[in-house]
Amino acid sequence: MTDCLFCKIAAKEIPADVVLETDRVLAFRDINPQAPTHVLVVPKAHHANAAALAAADDGLADDVLKAAHDVAVNDGVDASGYRVVFNTGPGAGQTVFHVHAHVLGGRDLRWPPG
Ligand code: AMP
Ligand code: ZN
Repeated sequence: MTDCLFCKIAAKEIPADVVLETDRVLAFRDINPQAPTHVLVVPKAHHANAAALAAADDGLADDVLKAAHDVAVNDGVDASGYRVVFNTGPGAGQTVFHVHAHVLGGRDLRWPPG
């Protein structure tokens, strides 16, 4: 998709602090971190949200979740605990309509979230 921020990051047209990359997935630090670990995991292919990613049915959703765990391990937050969040739709705070998993950790995370 031509006018999509995360497609441009995935294509390396816009710089990002990349922490993990595979052939189908990219993970980079959020520009406005809400926790010591705040990484976004995106499929390189454009899907608008988690439902579209799941409907793709080609294992890509698995790749995103596996990468989210790898990010947590690499940042050393897997044992203490971390959260994987897909904001889906404007009412849930989604602002970039290229699906991304937020991986949050490194501090106490309250439940329920606001
Ligand atoms: P959401 O509100 O769930 O759609 O999440 C979008 C996230 O993208 C926010 O947490 C932003 O801080 C983050 N963000 C926006 N632009 C960039 C960028 N250029 N590099 C890294 N993260 C970004
Ligand atoms: Zn995109």
